[in-house]
Amino acid sequence: MSAHSEFDLIARYFQRPVASDRIQLGIGDDCAVVQATRPLALSIDTLNAGVHFPHSSTPQDIARKAVAVNLSDLAAMGAAPVWAMLALSLPEADEAWLHAFSEALHAALAEHGVALVGGDTTQGSLSISLQVAGELAWPGHMRRGGACAGHRIYVTGTLGDAALGLQCAQNPALARKLDPVQRDFLLARLNRPEARLAFGQQLAAICPCAIDVSDGLLADLGHVLAASGCGARIEIGKLPLSGAARHAFARVSEGRIDWQMVLAHGDDYELCFTLPASRESAMRDMARAESLPVHCIGEITGDGGLVLVDENGAPLSLQQLGIDRAGFDHFSDSA
Ligand code: ADP
Ligand code: MG
Repeated sequence: MSAHSEFDLIARYFQRPVASDRIQLGIGDDCAVVQATRPLALSIDTLNAGVHFPHSSTPQDIARKAVAVNLSDLAAMGAAPVWAMLALSLPEADEAWLHAFSEALHAALAEHGVALVGGDTTQGSLSISLQVAGELAWPGHMRRGGACAGHRIYVTGTLGDAALGLQCAQNPALARKLDPVQRDFLLARLNRPEARLAFGQQLAAICPCAIDVSDGLLADLGHVLAASGCGARIEIGKLPLSGAARHAFARVSEGRIDWQMVLAHGDDYELCFTLPASRESAMRDMARAESLPVHCIGEITGDGGLVLVDENGAPLSLQQLGIDRAGFDHFSDSA
């Protein structure tokens, strides 16, 4: 991209007046200069066309997703988002695309009080890297390594909706089998995930261990177990499914639940966290205040890896659940 068009494009689409005493310099100088008052949590995620979203995605959905996946990482730390930076690689300076993308990006950031303070713009395959910074309100933040044997394991919201949404997006014949309201719910969960920010910030006051579920519960809980040196027992009957997901399984597979989608697909952007039982009622008050459903799905064990059990406590293998084993490093051999 020529220096001139790059400069114009940044000014037109990304530079907005900032009215915050926390930003001394925003877009337009060599660096942004910001004023932090607390320890900062920093995270960056890249979305590449054809890898992290289909080439057919709308610019609005790409922008919202870039914001949501980053904010979800901050939610898992209990951080309050404040600033963002955008590294954008574009095949060409498509004005209509840039307009739609930047409007949606600014709107999604503004919803959470986040200011875009800088970035980089280059020519290349479509790729969006967003970095976010959030302030931590509590001294002891939530970590992947904070789980202990005896903790209960919880998950917010529902699992598997985005996986089903992707199926709907890719397979019109399947999408047509679903009630439009339920189908649109699943598509919205794919394209417009909402980070559990408000709950995460409250939870951080009492919770030692959280992760956001971006790669599927098995993989992400696996990271917690590896970092904490623990095992876990998950009751699959307690895994939360949305009404729309149940509807979809009823219509396409006679009610048989596709556990691969629920446990191993990803893009859920829910929080998985662990707590001693003594803190459950305080946590439930926080969840109620946010009208956020939270389900207890099992408990942390001393060792033995990650074990999935049925309603009678009998272990279920990944194979029995129809889950492709590949990719899950931390899964117990004993299951
Ligand atoms: P430099 O050459 O000094 O690195 P750039 O020409 O890359 O500066 O960028 C000029 C200004 O515009 C910088 O403040 C940079 O942070 C900002 N910027 C560039 N691209 C973007 C973008 N896509 N979104 C937000 N800010 C951007
Ligand atoms: Mg630069």
